[in-house]
Amino acid sequence: MSGSRIAENLASVRERIARAAARVGRDPRSVRLVVVTKGVGADLIREVVEAGADCLGENRVQEARQKLAVLGDLPVKWHMVGHLQTNKVKYVIGMFEMIHSLDRLSLAEELDRRAGQRRTTVDVLVQANVSGEQTKFGVAPEETVEFIRQVSRFEHVKVKGLMTMAPFVPDPELARPCFRRLRELADEVRREAVGGVDMDWLSMGMTNDFEVAIEEGANLVRIGTAIFGERREPGGNH
Ligand SMILES: *Cc1c(COP(=O)(O)O)cnc(C)c1O
Repeated sequence: MSGSRIAENLASVRERIARAAARVGRDPRSVRLVVVTKGVGADLIREVVEAGADCLGENRVQEARQKLAVLGDLPVKWHMVGHLQTNKVKYVIGMFEMIHSLDRLSLAEELDRRAGQRRTTVDVLVQANVSGEQTKFGVAPEETVEFIRQVSRFEHVKVKGLMTMAPFVPDPELARPCFRRLRELADEVRREAVGGVDMDWLSMGMTNDFEVAIEEGANLVRIGTAIFGERREPGGNH
């Protein structure tokens, strides 16, 4: 895909974000766009950043490390949006502004340990499996509050919100209940007022369903295909 197309696609996504926000009386600037660059080569990533992207999402540590080696000069934040293996935690501290996929206590423990060694903290979102699909990672909704309570004891891990992946459905309206459920879950966590835990971010909505997600309160949307087109390199789509 040519550079001009990428700039155009990015502009069109921003326009759609703004319209979705406006429909529910929200300030479009309250929605942050994570441009998901998995499977996308360095040249196109430079183009999207030149076109104004300031936050990039990757779903594999290995791929992110390779990209950062050649794109480390870019004025952007990197987010880890995909499943994170415990044995990769040693690489992620200091690399990502936020990890969207905290889904188990053993991972929190390792993040805490590694961040502690580096005398820093790591910002995370708790991934909740609101759709209940067996194939999806994430904490069960009814266990989320207790899970967050336990994570809050790790002093180097800071919970900043929730993330979910809705089921892929042809009609995005069908994903709406999932997004609503995640928002309600965040309200529930807020009411519990667990020390050190913030519910600043709701990471939900992808190419297929981001407008519905924004209508339901998303303020972090993770979008790849609408900007770069259908994937790209083998193995990119995970
Ligand atoms: C690939 C991916 C996205 C982006 O999906 P698109 O449909 O390409 O917009 C968002 N979140 C996660 C976790 C992903 O792996």
